Amino acid sequence: MGPGPGNANPRVLQAQALPLLGHMHPPFFSIMDEIRGGLQYVFQTSSPYTALISGTGHAAMEASVINLCERGELLLVVRHGVWGTRAAEMARRQGVRVEFVEVEPGCVVPIETLKAKLRELRPKMLFTVQGDSSTGVLQPLEGLAETARETGTLLAVDTVCSLGGVPFFFDRWGIDLVYSGAQKCLAAPPGSAPIALSRRAVDAVAARKTPCPSYYLDLSQIGAYWGWFLPETPRPYHHTGMVSTWYGVREALAVVAEQGLPAMWARHKAVDDELWAGLEELGLERFVADDDAFLLTVNTIVVPEGVDAAKLSAHAMQRFSVEISGGLGPLAGKVWRVGIMGYNAQPINVRMVLAAFKEGLEAQGWKKQ
Ligand SMILES: *Cc1c(COP(=O)(O)O)cnc(C)c1O
Repeated sequence: MGPGPGNANPRVLQAQALPLLGHMHPPFFSIMDEIRGGLQYVFQTSSPYTALISGTGHAAMEASVINLCERGELLLVVRHGVWGTRAAEMARRQGVRVEFVEVEPGCVVPIETLKAKLRELRPKMLFTVQGDSSTGVLQPLEGLAETARETGTLLAVDTVCSLGGVPFFFDRWGIDLVYSGAQKCLAAPPGSAPIALSRRAVDAVAARKTPCPSYYLDLSQIGAYWGWFLPETPRPYHHTGMVSTWYGVREALAVVAEQGLPAMWARHKAVDDELWAGLEELGLERFVADDDAFLLTVNTIVVPEGVDAAKLSAHAMQRFSVEISGGLGPLAGKVWRVGIMGYNAQPINVRMVLAAFKEGLEAQGWKKQ
């Protein structure tokens, strides 16, 4: 019940146990096409440029930054917590210039501020997370598209810990690149990262002056393998598709489609409400007070004065086999993090988390004031 990986849906694990197909065999291409369709649904896009990156969320983060930005170009990064810092580090290693929009931990940036920054700096790309799992905030994204087109900026969004748990609309919000991770709200094992590009982003990759500095993460080649440029460009052997892992993602996307996104979002919200009703009864408080900035898939909970956060987490693991994570980066020791994600977003798990908090706080002699 931390910020991921969560438990995988057993259906996904079963799908991964099926016999292998060849990564260049037509039946496997059909499976890849179905995954592309499932990704169009989960990202809410009609763009045909969807695929899985063979790697975790970080691989997709790196692919985004190094395919859409070239040496000397400017990347504007919204830094809510650790993820903005990492994207910036990946960019800098390739000679991309970086500017930050800094945010206090637990806060988000108003759209108007982002628009003003785009007009001032006219960056090649804006990078932001939708959900920041290090601080527990949900960055609003709607309303940027028009300005981004004016300033020639590509909009890139990390939805690793939010996709499937809270609404996201690629087409409606005018996003140019989005990626996620398999192991959070999609309830598959880690190892593949869903990605989608707009036509504008695909054109930007094609218009590069220099080849992508990473062969493995070159989106023009990955896209060709996923059939983006058929029939003109046949599918090349770029790397061996992750056959079993992709069976699993196909099943995970089928689960999403069966449930329907609105029902998934409603389930995550209902289970999160139940979590907070219980936590508040115990006397615990939200780190993100503002409702408009609150991310319900990764909940940051303030560690009260006099309580040892790590000790409570250890107690939860020993007694309940339940993971309650600590803070990351500047919030280490200051918050706990509880994930309400995917297959684990069920009332029975919330009850276990609440029991672990209750017992853990009592064991340390802490009482609600
Ligand atoms: C978990 C997470 C990542 C990193 O994903 P990995 O699969 O660990 O590489 C990136 N961004 C966000 C917002 C995350 O929550």
